[in-house]
Order: sequence, then C-alpha cells, then structure tokens
Amino acid sequence: MDVRAQIVMAFNLDKCIGCHACSIACKNIWTDRQGAEYMWWNNVETKPGIGYPKRWEDQEEYQGGWVADGTNLRLKGLGKGPTLLNMFYQPNMPKLDDYYEPFDFDYANLYKAPPGSDQPVADAFSQISGEKMPVIQGGPNWDDDLSGSQLYAAGDVNLEEKRLIEDYGRIFMHYLPRICNHCAHPACVASCPSRALYKRGEDGIVLVDQNVCRGWRFCTSACPYKKVYFNWASGKAEKCIFCYPRVETGVCSSCAHSCVGRIRYNGVLLYDADKVGDALLRRDDQLVEGHRGVILDPRDPQVREGARKNGVSDQWLAAAEKSPVYALVKEFGVALPLHPEFRTMPMSFYIPALSPVIGSAGELFEVVEHGEIPPLESLRAPIGFLASLLAGGNREVITQVLTKLIALRIHMRAKSLGRPAPTGALQAAGLDEAGAERLYRLFAVGGYGERHVVPPRQREELEAERRKGERGFGILRKTRRGK
Ligand code: SF4
Ligand code: SF4
Repeated sequence: MDVRAQIVMAFNLDKCIGCHACSIACKNIWTDRQGAEYMWWNNVETKPGIGYPKRWEDQEEYQGGWVADGTNLRLKGLGKGPTLLNMFYQPNMPKLDDYYEPFDFDYANLYKAPPGSDQPVADAFSQISGEKMPVIQGGPNWDDDLSGSQLYAAGDVNLEEKRLIEDYGRIFMHYLPRICNHCAHPACVASCPSRALYKRGEDGIVLVDQNVCRGWRFCTSACPYKKVYFNWASGKAEKCIFCYPRVETGVCSSCAHSCVGRIRYNGVLLYDADKVGDALLRRDDQLVEGHRGVILDPRDPQVREGARKNGVSDQWLAAAEKSPVYALVKEFGVALPLHPEFRTMPMSFYIPALSPVIGSAGELFEVVEHGEIPPLESLRAPIGFLASLLAGGNREVITQVLTKLIALRIHMRAKSLGRPAPTGALQAAGLDEAGAERLYRLFAVGGYGERHVVPPRQREELEAERRKGERGFGILRKTRRGK
C-alpha cells in the first residue's frame, strides 16, 4: 500500500445557480493578464451543452486521456511515433475559435467621445489583435442557459436522445462548474516531453514549472478536460493551481470561497497509489467502483501507518478524518468523478442534480411530492445522460445516487412539516436516520468549517521537501506514454 494524501474538491450540482462568481474570482486572481485573457481555469457550463472549449468531451475529436490497452494504459492521442512528429504541431488541440477570441470593451469612449447627436457606445475590441471586433462570435459561457437549443444542447456528446431537444416540454438543464481535476493519473503530466508538469508529492496538486516548460503543448492535447492552456504571450502552458498559496495556509481555494450557492467542498483524501493502475484497467462501467476502491479510510490504523511512513503529518490525517469530500465520495457514495472513462482518475467529484418528475399526462412534480421514490425513468433528466457524464455509462450507479438524494428530501420534508417521516424511502436508499441527518447538514446547513477542511502546510516542511527534490510520483514514471 502506497498511501498518498491529496487536497480535493466536490461540487453539489443541485445547488449551482450558474452565477459565475467562482469564475470571476479565479479570473481576477490568476488570469487577468496578457496571454491569459481567454483562459478560464474555473468555468461554468450549461448541460446539456457543448461547453468550453467547444465539444471538449468528444475524445474522438480531441484524442485526450488514456485508453486501456490489454494490461497497459496508453495516452490516446500520443503514441511514440506521433510524439516526434507533433513536436511543432498539435493537430488535436482546440483552436482559438473553440475557446473564443477574447475581447474587452472600449469604455473610455463613453467619456471621451466628442459631442454628437448619438449616445456614445463602448465597442468591443480583440484583446489579441487590439482591432475592433465586427461581431462577437463566442465566449466562455456562450451557450449559457441555452439547454434547449438545437445548436448547442443537441451537440452534447452525453445526450443519446437528441429528440428531447426537439420536445421543449421535456427540456432539462443544470450547470457544470469545472476546474482542473488534479487527477491521480494525469495525462498532462505523462505527456510532457520536458517534464515541466508534475504532481506535488505533498498535496497532489498538479502544476506546470514555468522555468522548464518549452511550450510543446502536448499537455493541452493530452488533457481530456482541456484544462491546460497555452499562454500566447509567454509561450508556456498554464493551468489551475488549486490556489496553492491559499491552501498552504489552510484557506480553501478562491472559487470555493466565493461560491454563492455554497456548492463546493474542499477536503483531504487518502488514496492507494499502488491500486491506481489496476483500477483504471477496468471496463468503463466499472471505473467508479474502481475509483472508490482506491480511496482509503483515514481511520484505518494500517492506512494511517502507511500515510505516516510517506510523510503525511498528523494534522493532515486529522483533516482526512473530518474531510467532507471523503464523506460524500466514500461513506455516502453520492459524489462521482467526471467522465471516469477518460482514465485520468479525476480528483474532483460531482453530486448529480435532481430534476422534476414527469407525470403520465406530461405534468411536472417535484420529486418529493410523491412521498416515495418515483420511477427514475420519469425524471426529466435522462439517467443515461447523467450516467454518461458521471459514471462511465453505468446507470445503476446514478440510480443509487439519485435514490439517496430523493430519499433524503422526502425524509427532511416530512420532518420540517412536522409529519411522520416515511421509512420506506430511506430504507430503499440504504440510509438510516442518523446518516440522513448528517448528509442534510453537509448539503444544506454546514458552515465554512464543515464544507472546507484544509490543513495548513508549514513553509519549513515544504522547503525541506523541495530540497530533497520530491516533485512527482513514481506511478507516473511507470505509465509515462504507455511504458
Ligand atoms: S484535469 Fe487532469 S489531465 Fe487535465 S490538466 Fe488537470 S490534472 Fe492534468
Ligand atoms: S459560484 Fe458556485 S453557484 Fe455560482 S456558478 Fe460558481 S459553482 Fe455555481
């Protein structure tokens, strides 16, 4: 057992209101500078939709992530041959139009325009060329709230039933906030010929060493989530850094801190790096189970001993015990990895959104109105869609999670209305009353200290680790470009 500790994030999609406060907080701190204008290390998409960059989930087009090849994992788009050929040209990378041409407005004109008969306007100008933009044709949230549109939603790769888009009576939507997942098996790290990307031993955060990066952009191609960006001004790759200067002082990431819906959780997970490779060789629909199996119980004495041997401090172990993300992912099993079939083992987790129930006459009910678990096929959001997004196509996993979420709502609704709580729903979901209360606290009333348990790191410890040259994990060397 090779016990690693990682700082991770969970998102409750039921509560995201698509306000983009998280994106703006991140932008203002990290990417408000030349060459990074088009970068949104944190972005929020509308699902169904094509997202940012456009169609990022379509690995037939972008060739990102890993594929299981017998007993090996290999990078999908980067075998040995193409590596050399692609040194100067990455054919599978998103183009600027797939992100959008960044623009700003000429606000100064509002003050400086000469007197005239018309109101002055603030024209849009390109932040790359400086030229006036004739028409704005894209943005990081261009398809915001357009879940019913033929143009955007119908292009969502998770949507088997395209006809839903044509049937406006059945339109459903939810938001999907995304950051770099600081994966346990990151394709970006393995793809870099300069070894500029690395996964920090102390907390699992994946970073780009700006002094080592040579701008080959293999990482941008290899990341299936398209969360490494190329800075056109510096010629280097950049990505979300999980606000490590904040995290090192025990403060949660900025996106989580600013989250209006309080949908985000920061916490520590312990996992067994020895099991990562095998877990990723499973069939797509078995990957969630494999992922859960890699995550370790922080109260297990053997795990604690293994963690201490690997230099995990008591403070981190205490944080792992109180981790809200551990509770959501492992204890309650309601938070799931985004597209586990990309096989990077993402270390961000999502609680799927609930949707109303459609009655036999086409009318909509809130899920709780039944007082019992409704047939899940009658939910407005198709199970197949959520399974494609969060479970490698495994509908059973989604059914179990949604059953728990609905049972919890039925229980808490009855309780708040002073009615006897129906026991059948909790039983069907495998929850007891104490579990339901705990989950409710985590979802609804937990304060900052319950939603974010971030242990600080001592600067001296970090410096000592750096001097020892502990930059990455052995596991990445084993799987580097499929070797
Ligand atoms: S999401 Fe995973 S593969 Fe992509 S940049 Fe982040 S760590 Fe790398
Ligand atoms: S701040 Fe929170 S609620 Fe608002 S869009 Fe971001 S994740 Fe969603």
